[in-house]
Amino acid sequence: MTDCIFCKIANGELNAHKYYEDEDVVAFADVAPQGPVHVLVIPRRHITSATALTREDQALAGRLIIVAQELAQELGVAETGYRLVLNAGPDGGQLVPHLHVHLLGGRPLAPELG
Ligand code: 5GP
Ligand code: ZN
Repeated sequence: MTDCIFCKIANGELNAHKYYEDEDVVAFADVAPQGPVHVLVIPRRHITSATALTREDQALAGRLIIVAQELAQELGVAETGYRLVLNAGPDGGQLVPHLHVHLLGGRPLAPELG
């Protein structure tokens, strides 16, 4: 999608600190980190939100979580713990309409769901 910031980060048009990329998935630092570790894991393909996922996307959806947990290990927060967050739609607090999983860690996070 041409005017999507996360598509532009994925294809290199916009700059971001990338932690990981392969043909399907890209992971990069959040521009406004909420903690010592704040990484966004996205599909390279433009998928608007979790709501647009279908069963055909099962492997890709799983891959986002696997990449997130691998990065949690690489970034040293797997032992202390971390949170994976997936906001969908306005009430879910989704601001960027390209599916992304937040990996948050490196500090104790409030126990509430929101
Ligand atoms: P959402 O609220 O949609 O779940 O989260 C969007 C996230 O994207 C926010 O944490 C925000 O800081 C991050 N973000 C927004 N614009 C940019 C950008 O241009 N570059 C990067 N690296 N992160 C961004
Ligand atoms: Zn996009």
